[in-house]
Amino acid sequence: MQVQSMHFKRRASEKLDDALLQSNMKKAKGKFVDGRAKAVAEFGPWEELRSHCAALRDRVIANLDAYLVEFERNATRRGAVVHWAETAEEACAIVADIATKNGVRTVTKSKSMVSEEIALNDRLEAAGIRVVETDLGEYILQLAHEPPSHIVAPAVHKSKEQVADLFQEAHDRPRNTDIPALTREAREALRDDFLNADMGISGANFIIAETGTTLTVTNEGNADMVTTVPRIHCVVTGVEKVIGTLEDFASLIRLLPRSAIGQTITNYLTLTTGTKMPGDVDGPEQMHIVLVDAGRTKLVGSDLEPMLRCIRCGACMNHCPVYQNVGGHAYGWVYPGPMGSVLTPAYVGLENAGDLPNAATFCGECAVACPVKIPLPDLMRKLREQQFDRRLRPWGERAAISMWSFAVTRPGLYAFLSRWGARVASWIGGREKLIHKLPGLDGWTKGRDMPAPAGRTFRDLYREGGR
Ligand code: SF4
Repeated sequence: MQVQSMHFKRRASEKLDDALLQSNMKKAKGKFVDGRAKAVAEFGPWEELRSHCAALRDRVIANLDAYLVEFERNATRRGAVVHWAETAEEACAIVADIATKNGVRTVTKSKSMVSEEIALNDRLEAAGIRVVETDLGEYILQLAHEPPSHIVAPAVHKSKEQVADLFQEAHDRPRNTDIPALTREAREALRDDFLNADMGISGANFIIAETGTTLTVTNEGNADMVTTVPRIHCVVTGVEKVIGTLEDFASLIRLLPRSAIGQTITNYLTLTTGTKMPGDVDGPEQMHIVLVDAGRTKLVGSDLEPMLRCIRCGACMNHCPVYQNVGGHAYGWVYPGPMGSVLTPAYVGLENAGDLPNAATFCGECAVACPVKIPLPDLMRKLREQQFDRRLRPWGERAAISMWSFAVTRPGLYAFLSRWGARVASWIGGREKLIHKLPGLDGWTKGRDMPAPAGRTFRDLYREGGR
């Protein structure tokens, strides 16, 4: 997927003006946030589980090489072929090569954010291979020629009426806006491809070192069809997805669906270990696992290392007031919301995603919701510091930050300036006590008035109170 993150501000403005998107996003918000809150409240020792899972993810990241080698050894023992891809291009070339060597004409895919990241569909289609997305949300977006706007619910920005229009055109059937009927229609449209595809491509939520197993979490069962029916199964996943044991998985799976959509457990957990064995009634003849680095290992030992804990639940974006209003496409790449505001600059370069670490109110909700305790606001703050040090922000902004820093590190000067600032702001507010326009800071007042301060600073009031 081509990076458009450098256009975040323009794209965000367009999304804010899109009334249909605003209405669709509003409907989704309550469902995710309330669902998670209820599931967490019912669970009990949630904080203990979060701490336990954060620690187990850290343990893996600190020994990533050893866990990956163990995974490779066990997966190979069960008949899979493990491929290592340092870059997105290498990963695409490996998959395309497997497909062409085996005469693959049609590929069915279950949802894989890594495959979006490396633009795998484009590469396969360029090689003359037909790619069919089978996750319902991804299927809708393939018809709409759009990228996902959410990592768990890719078509969350679409209404059922928009889906009905797409299906009417693609399936040549009467328009229907009943959701179960639309789902049935998609299932019927996909059935032949499920049964006749030569190769299935899946992602992996986790890969388990002790058994060489890849693991996919879905609600539609499409991953089962993709991984077991075609003669070749290819898993494309990031190196950081490795975990140690099935027991670790048992802990993480308590966190993942609750954090994602408030489910206690997903409908399907698909564990795939190796190829079809003598006596097996189904399963692939070949299993390939492509482990993609594409910038991940360079985060190990860096300020951004905690980001590798991410289990792609989407809770941070569901709780982010910026994401809730602008939606995923504004972020301009595969990963939206707070996790994308860290991952995108880390993977595609801070110079190509300069607005993302600033696309946050720093309310802290993302860090509270994150099941593996990733300190997202701290990581965004670190990226902002890097931007400042590398002179990647406009000179006016850098000058303002330098002046601010000069003032706040001198208490006397700060007290003087804040006293005068409060008086001037109170005077601008006038009788209405509202500021309609702030010179040089009109982004704050473009869509709302700012209440004028009382004319006295907190220090003044504190002193007056005699405390
Ligand atoms: S950063 Fe945390 S909350 Fe966001 S997707 Fe990753 S695990 Fe989930």
